[in-house]
This record gives sequence, C-alpha cells and structure tokens, in this order.
Amino acid sequence: MENLEKFYINGHWVTPDSKKNMPVLNPSNQEELGKVSLGNEKDVNVAVEAAKRAFETYSKTTKKDRLALLKELKFVTEKRFEDLAQAMRQEMGAPISMARSAQADAAIGHLDSFIDALNELEERTKLINGDILLKEPIGVCGLITPWNWPINQIALKVIPALATGCTCILKPSEHTPVSAMIYAEVIEEAGYPAGVFNLVNGVGDVVGTAMSKHKDIDMMSFTGSTRAGILVTKDSAETIKRVTLELGGKSPNIVFSDANLERDIEYSVKECMLNTGQSCDAPTRLLVESSCYEEVLKIAKKVAEEITIDDPEKEGDHIGPLFDKIQFDRVQNMIDVGIKEGASVLTGGLGKPQGLEDGWFVKPTIFYNVTNNMRVAQEEIFGPVLVIIPFENESDAVSKANDTPYGLAAYLQTADMERAERVSSQLRAGAVHINGGGYNYGTPFGGYKQSGNGREGGIMGLEDYLETKSLHGI
Ligand code: NAD
Repeated sequence: MENLEKFYINGHWVTPDSKKNMPVLNPSNQEELGKVSLGNEKDVNVAVEAAKRAFETYSKTTKKDRLALLKELKFVTEKRFEDLAQAMRQEMGAPISMARSAQADAAIGHLDSFIDALNELEERTKLINGDILLKEPIGVCGLITPWNWPINQIALKVIPALATGCTCILKPSEHTPVSAMIYAEVIEEAGYPAGVFNLVNGVGDVVGTAMSKHKDIDMMSFTGSTRAGILVTKDSAETIKRVTLELGGKSPNIVFSDANLERDIEYSVKECMLNTGQSCDAPTRLLVESSCYEEVLKIAKKVAEEITIDDPEKEGDHIGPLFDKIQFDRVQNMIDVGIKEGASVLTGGLGKPQGLEDGWFVKPTIFYNVTNNMRVAQEEIFGPVLVIIPFENESDAVSKANDTPYGLAAYLQTADMERAERVSSQLRAGAVHINGGGYNYGTPFGGYKQSGNGREGGIMGLEDYLETKSLHGI
C-alpha cells in the first residue's frame, strides 16, 4: 500500500516527523506487507491542531449535512469493501469468508445503524419545566482501537464522531494499520472537510499517551486491554476528559440440562473459537449443570475436533492463525499454565497443528477439571481456548458466572424462558445471548465492571460524543 508510511492529517497524506517504523507481517506466512511509521508527540500535536481548527466549522454543520456525508461514506465503503476484507485477511489472518461476512461487514452494518440513530436523535428538546436542552458535539476526539476486529472498532468510534459533528484523531493498532489506512482513504473520498478526520499510526505508550494527555483533546474513546484502559484513564485525568472504555472479557456461558445439547454445545464451542478466539466477548467459560456435564464433554470434544484450521486465503468456515507471534506466545503460555495448575486437556493442547508450522496457528483447545479460581478460568486468554466448569444449581451458576473481574457478555442455554429472564437479570454483564441470540448492529455494546464503561453502537453510541447544554429563560 503506497500510503503505509504516511499519516492522514488535515486532508493530506503527510510524511511523519518520526523516522521510526516497524514491519507489518502476514501471520499465516510471515510475509512483510510493508512498514508502518510509528508517530511521535509532534505528529500527534499536528493532527490535534488540524482537528481543533476543523471543529470550528464542522461542529456548526447541520444534521442534514452530516447525513448526506454519511450516505456518501456508505457509497465509498461499499466500493472498497473487498479491499477492507483482504487487508484484514493479510494483516491479522482473518479467514477471507469471515473477513467479508463479519469483519468488513461491520463497516456497513454500523454505518446503517448510525444513520438511523442520527435520524432519530433529537438535538433540541423541551423539558416539562420549560427549559431547553441542546445536544452538541463534545469536540476533538482521540480514538484508539485494537487489532482483533480492526474495522468493527474503527466504525464504532469514527462514524459516531463524524455523525455528531465532532472531529477526531484515530490511532489504530500498530499491528493492523492497513485496513485503517484504507478506511482513511474511504473517508477522504467521501468528501469530509480537511481536519475532520486524521490518522496517526504508532505505539500505545507514545502516540496513545500523547493523545490521552493532550489538552486540546476533549474525549478519549478506547478499545483494548484493561491494562491499557487504566493507563488511558490515568493519563486523561489531568485534563478531565471524558473517557469511554471497551475492555477485555471472560464471558460465561451457562448450560442448563434442559438445553438442546447437541445444537447448543456446537454453537457454544464454535462461538468461542470464532476469529481464532480473539474476540473480547467470546464465551470462554462453559459452565455446565453437573447432571449433563459428561455428555457436554463428549459433544464439545467432537465439535472442537471437527473445526478446521487453514490458510485465511481459502474460502470456508475454518479458523486462521493468531494475529502475531506475541499472541501465539501468550496463548501457548496460558495453555501451559492450565496444564500446570491441574486442568485436564480434553482436546488440543500445546504446539502448532500439523502442516501449519509457517504461521501462528494454534490448536483449538478445551480444558475440563477446571475450577473457577484457576488462572485459565479468570484471565482473558484471547485464543481458541475453552474451559468447562460444572455447577450444581441456578444460584451456583450465577455466582460462578459473575466471579471474574470482567462483565462484557454472558451466554445462556436453556429451554425455560422464565429461567432465562430470571438468570439474565442476575448476570453482571453488558449483554446476555440466550440460546444463540446474536448481536444486531445498533444495539448498545459494552461492559460492566472491568470490561469498560461506555456503550457503543446506535443511539447510545452517538450520545457518548455529545455534550448537553441547558437553556434557561427562553
Ligand atoms: P492493547 O490494549 O494492547 O492495545 C489496544 C490499543 O491500545 C492499541 O492501539 C495500542 O497501541 C493502544 N495502547 C496500548 N497501550 C496504550 C497506552 N498506554 N495508552 C494509550 N493507548 C495504548 O490491546 P490489544 O492487544 O490490541 O487488543 C486486545 C484487547 O482488546 C483484549 O483485551 C480485548 O478483550 C480488548 N477488546 C475489547 C473490545 C470491547 O469492545 N470490549 C473489543 C475488542 C477488543
């Protein structure tokens, strides 16, 4: 890609001040896709200055102006859809069918739902007491995203910023800059005014820190690990920025014995392994009613062993590699930890699958004989690793489900809908998926506890980017 070493600032592809760069590697075969520049504080300052200037005029645009731009954005996104999908296949190893149907699809799905939400948004309302409330764009936004669902996360931040009249600086993950830069080209072609959207690449503790600390950035929206989310919050504190966080997860999946076990365990195992287990809301802790525990072990083993692992270039529903050596080492280490702390391997285990030694491929792995206090049951592994834990009754299930620092999602398999509602109401999680109920674009996404504090998507996703002003005496 010709722009890979440049940043998009103030409507131009510019040469960064920083001379540092790093290779971007295809995780299936280590092929170098190019070198990405790693910015410095000066690069951030130039981008913030551009965004601040652009805010003066862009914040005054009408909802009609911004809806027209979003429709143009949709037209160009559709045109570049295949480029986005291929970029994610190459930079993070998403198998191409899934890169199209889920990863790139998110750019269109979220855009459609934000257009609907903006149409619905009331920018001026009257309170019962006669005062007027105005919703106004918050200002210059710093947006930081991870590598695992690159375009999904970018769409969830950039689109609401643009939709509400904010201006922004995006710092995508340094590991997946290619799809982000194609997205910058899409925004450029859609006709956004100079400075409204800016992109600076770089590592978190340089570019990310400079953004969080910057006095002219009004809000930070961060998606990534809980570790980095804490740092963004601390760095933002001195300038009292609004900080919204979408962080990690260790989501429970409660299986009651009245569930359709064949169907629901197949779904549960596959959902955990989707995107090679690199999803923040993956159901990674299978909590199983003890009366059907043995049967669930048998089904889960069979399903995991039927999952194919293959080259992301091939069409199909196989899983691909992990995104990088860093993640491969982390996942291998956690499998080793599980074995050492006494969990039993039902299938998978350490090492690469046969015939796939060139990439960062791992074996879908399931542990049983796991207790909820083990590290493999408490820590986010971020690979295709499932732990299975028995429970005795409903209250035991709820207590085990809630017993981690996280609260992003929860999953529930039961034929009893009254129980589904009763248990859902006790789960400390931002979403509960019942019997395979999937996420729909436009529904708020976010977590309880250490999984974060905002909600992205749809109308709530727009509200994060708005300030409220009260008018008295009108
Ligand atoms: P990460 O925290 O290492 O990096 C995420 C982003 O933060 C990157 O752009 C990185 O450069 C930046 N960053 C790192 N340190 C920073 C700092 N000190 N200041 C500012 N920015 C910093 O996470 P990752 O490994 O890229 O992504 C995986 C994590 O993201 C997992 O924990 C996953 O659960 C989480 N995630 C959460 C959601 C959600 O919506 N809740 C979605 C996707 C991923």
